[in-house]
Amino acid sequence: MPIECLACSRGIEHCHGTLVQHVDATLECTDSGCEVLTVDQHELVLECWQVTGGCACAEVETVTKAAS
Ligand SMILES: [Zn+2]
Ligand SMILES: [Zn+2]
Ligand SMILES: [Zn+2]
Repeated sequence: MPIECLACSRGIEHCHGTLVQHVDATLECTDSGCEVLTVDQHELVLECWQVTGGCACAEVETVTKAAS
């Protein structure tokens, strides 16, 4: 029997992947089939520096701050 989350049981359109927010405001989803990249559509939202292994954005942000 499939496990439904609250949003599923309510028939709300959403994604079960993890939405990753990058420093430059771009959004990425761990679900390759995901087409709606908005925070509203995702229960799990991470900033990219929180992702295991990190993201190149974190380094860019540090450099930018140091320069300004
Ligand atoms: Zn669901
Ligand atoms: Zn990033
Ligand atoms: Zn998604």
